[in-house]
Amino acid sequence: MPQKATFSSKQCLLVPLLLVCLAISFITTFSVHASAQSIPTINVSQQYQDGEVKLDGPWGFYWGEWLPLDELDSHKYPIRIIRKLDFLENIVEKDEHNIQPFVDGYGTYLLEIDGLKGVFKQPAIHMRSVSDAWQAWWVNADGSSRYLGNSGKISKDGLDQEQRYRTTILDLPTDSNKGTLVIYLSSHTSIRAGLFAVPVIQEHEQASRSIYIDLAIRILIVGVGIFVVMQNLIFYAQRPKEKTLLLLVILGFAGLMRGLVASDYFYVFIGDPALFFTISKLEYVLIIWPAIAGVHFFANLCPFKGDVQFVQANYGILIITIMATWLLPMQTVMFYLFVYQSVLLFIAASIMLILTNGIIKKMPGSRSLMMSLLPLLLAVCNDIYATYSSQYNLFITEYGLFIFFFVQSQIHASHYLGALQTAEHLTNNLQQEINLKTEELSVRNQMLETKALDLEQQRNKIRQLSKIDHLTGLFNRQTLDEYSTAQFKQTQEQQLPLAVIMMDIDNFKKVNDQYGHGVGDGCLKFVADYLANSGLRKDDIVARYGGEEILILLPNTDLVEAEIMTRRICDGLNQKSVVGDHPPITLTASFGVAERITSKVNRIEDLIDEADKALYSAKKNGKNRVEVANMPRQ
Ligand code: GH3
Ligand code: MG
Ligand code: MG
Repeated sequence: MPQKATFSSKQCLLVPLLLVCLAISFITTFSVHASAQSIPTINVSQQYQDGEVKLDGPWGFYWGEWLPLDELDSHKYPIRIIRKLDFLENIVEKDEHNIQPFVDGYGTYLLEIDGLKGVFKQPAIHMRSVSDAWQAWWVNADGSSRYLGNSGKISKDGLDQEQRYRTTILDLPTDSNKGTLVIYLSSHTSIRAGLFAVPVIQEHEQASRSIYIDLAIRILIVGVGIFVVMQNLIFYAQRPKEKTLLLLVILGFAGLMRGLVASDYFYVFIGDPALFFTISKLEYVLIIWPAIAGVHFFANLCPFKGDVQFVQANYGILIITIMATWLLPMQTVMFYLFVYQSVLLFIAASIMLILTNGIIKKMPGSRSLMMSLLPLLLAVCNDIYATYSSQYNLFITEYGLFIFFFVQSQIHASHYLGALQTAEHLTNNLQQEINLKTEELSVRNQMLETKALDLEQQRNKIRQLSKIDHLTGLFNRQTLDEYSTAQFKQTQEQQLPLAVIMMDIDNFKKVNDQYGHGVGDGCLKFVADYLANSGLRKDDIVARYGGEEILILLPNTDLVEAEIMTRRICDGLNQKSVVGDHPPITLTASFGVAERITSKVNRIEDLIDEADKALYSAKKNGKNRVEVANMPRQ
């Protein structure tokens, strides 16, 4: 058949040729595909930018096995190509089912790095943000391998892993230009598992510097936290009535714990990688605790109906959270992370409600509270979003919490100091007032004392005046009666003598008649002065007995002495003259003297009577003379 004949030998050769071509192309395609699927390469010199090389883009990944280092290039394993950034859940869930994260979620990350030489002197990978424990290796182009480091103990059972470092520097060999970075990952335990942040190649020096700066910032934050907690604690110790200060301390402490435990360095400080899950559980509790401390704090600042019960219910939630977190297996706790976050959101929302209520009721400080709380709330939402995002890794709540806490505590501290200053001011004022009043009182007191003294003096004067005859300045009759009775009694008891002289100015009527009553008065004064200077003793009493009669009382004086004394007075009087607007007047007087013992009398009146009788005799016997009563004459 011509048609068949047309099927030439050339044509016959074409078919096998085509088949060979097909086979070659198939093999080529397959091998190219296979090699492309093996290990992606990143060229350092091409990707170098701003002193670093970001290891993002395609990575090799083998799920469910830690590939033997010496078999990496054997094409034995169908290595998958994944893209970084992404976390495991996103990578494996798409095409693998029945994953048991805690058991078979382990794997190997691979990335070939080329062109290291000439770019970095001391290349280092800044590793951070890996959820599970890992171990890193470097496989040189010649197949030799080198251990780079780990973040703890890796394990194929997620719960057996131990994690110590979250942030680490891996030093790459300085002598190799090309090699494969191999990271073995523990079985993954949470949604955000695996290598979800982009590792970066930097100079070792720069990597460690950035770690130190980060560490310094965290130390600063923790330092500020400790300072604020201590500050409020001291304030509270001084003012135990200020419950707000204590609540601020509790809130600050819870926030501080959250910041500490959630930090990458806490695991390093704790030191024991075996405590990894215990610390993780604490971290879960600390999602809730600061928020509940916040509820307590805000409910106290902006009270509302049923606030006590609400706060109690919140602490109930906290207790349940602590117990559940402690008792449940770690994988369950991790699986229910969204429950913790939901509770957190619920509490945050209730805090907003409390504050809104405070603003509506115009409670002091509620508006500024709300203003400072809003950024914190946004930070919480940000962190929840970051937890579920593969591309977004920025967590800011702890910073937000610190800023909020710091601002709040400083506001309260300033209120407290203000109150202290006011109290001090008031105390000072009060002290000043007291000083002023005390001064005033002492002045008044002095015035009163002076017045009292004046009164006393006046009283004395009055008393004195009442005792004294105002014309002559001699004691008056009333005083004489008091003194003479007392003196009589005393001398009687002591058996001492008591003499009485009764004196009467002679012819005084004539003086009055001749010169007038005024001159008569002057003469009376003259006689009184004369007697005062006549050598009488201080115990002797001179009194105006009546009219121009004067009585002199001489205690402890016997009759003889009294007579001598009287004669001297009698003789002395007429030696003197009263001078004035009148011719000189010479006065004489008659005297009667008696003495208690000699007269044998028992009453002063009788003794005076005796003296009076003697005076009468003196008058009768010619005046200007002295007569003595009952004088025993020898
Ligand atoms: P005799 O020598 O007998 O005592 O004579 P006499 O004038 O002094 O008489 P008598 O003692 O009886 O009179 C007292 C007079 O003294 C009467 C009265 O006028 C006068 N006299 C009494 N009291 C006062 C006085 O206070 N002032 C003056 N100026 N005279 C007085
Ligand atoms: Mg007389
Ligand atoms: Mg007389």
